[in-house]
Amino acid sequence: MIDTLDIEITKTSESKLSQVDFDNLPFGKVFADHMLIAKYENGAWSRACIEPYGNISLSPASSMIHYGQSIFEGLKAFKSENNEVLIFRPEENWKRMNASAVRMCMPEVPKDIFLGGMRQLIDLDRNWVPNNSESALYIRPFLFATDALLGVKPSESYMFMIITAPVGPYYVKPLHLKIETEFTRAAIGGVGAAKAAGNYGAAMYPAMLAQKEGIDQLIWTDAKEHKYLEEAGTMNMMVVIDDKLITPPLKSTILPGITRKSFLELTKEAGYEVEERSISVSEVIEAIKSGDLKELFGVGTAATTAQVEKLTFEGNTYDLPSKESRVISNSIGQKLLRIKKGIDPDTHGWNISV
Ligand SMILES: *Cc1c(COP(=O)(O)O)cnc(C)c1O
Repeated sequence: MIDTLDIEITKTSESKLSQVDFDNLPFGKVFADHMLIAKYENGAWSRACIEPYGNISLSPASSMIHYGQSIFEGLKAFKSENNEVLIFRPEENWKRMNASAVRMCMPEVPKDIFLGGMRQLIDLDRNWVPNNSESALYIRPFLFATDALLGVKPSESYMFMIITAPVGPYYVKPLHLKIETEFTRAAIGGVGAAKAAGNYGAAMYPAMLAQKEGIDQLIWTDAKEHKYLEEAGTMNMMVVIDDKLITPPLKSTILPGITRKSFLELTKEAGYEVEERSISVSEVIEAIKSGDLKELFGVGTAATTAQVEKLTFEGNTYDLPSKESRVISNSIGQKLLRIKKGIDPDTHGWNISV
């Protein structure tokens, strides 16, 4: 259990809850009533506080704006059938945020602020956790540099915040992805394994070019040869070839997804073979042509299990097996969702109950 943290709480005088249409939630546009703030100054963290959600005031010289010391996390809280609120594996997000912080030369966030603060925030806004099937309260912790200084150097002051948003599914339909072979998301030794804000800004232009051709997202390939699959937008990629689940191994170019990790564990437990190894684009294309490729999908907190039904590579578009025919991703994806919602027993101790 996480210790209860001494947090200064200022409650909103006017909840916005009654204005929300929980059956039509756009992703990340509606925010719950409160937010958490903790400041890092002179080498120490201040006491965290919870305030009504609202604008913040910053110097225009804030170094985060100019030099990009900005990292974030994403996780979800679900409402169980007996009205408990369950947060899925938040300690993993805490560890990953601190790994991102180290890479971006930022201070690590103490566990009591990250996890204890999150618990209190979610408890306060617990009525914002949706209870319809695939909806959840998306939790966005983030950390950014606040020194008002135009010199290129690590900031000495930072702000850690958590905001939350009730959300429905990120992708409603099966996806059409393109294997990207010109632009690069991350190179070995770069910041691809960090959830650093700049990674996402840098990916927008190539994704926009593809979207003009009716493609939903890109699958990135390795920066050196553009021959091996890496990952997509905000999800890790998985394929099933000959009844084996295969996913690229973690390295400095791939974000270590918590959904990926959980999915691999559940797949092994269900008795399927799992391989973490490099997958070449040509292996995928050949497996599509021979009919050996049974499933191709992405996994991530926001996207959950996102089925890919069309794949474009070098101007050719391939139709993949239908969503309904996919044994592993459907069964494991459902299993994972049932654990998150407290329907199936949480034998791994993944959920934290608030
Ligand atoms: C967040 C993210 C993922 C998925 O990570 P989860 O912990 O499963 O949500 C995968 N790839 C990228 C690039 C991401 O930013």
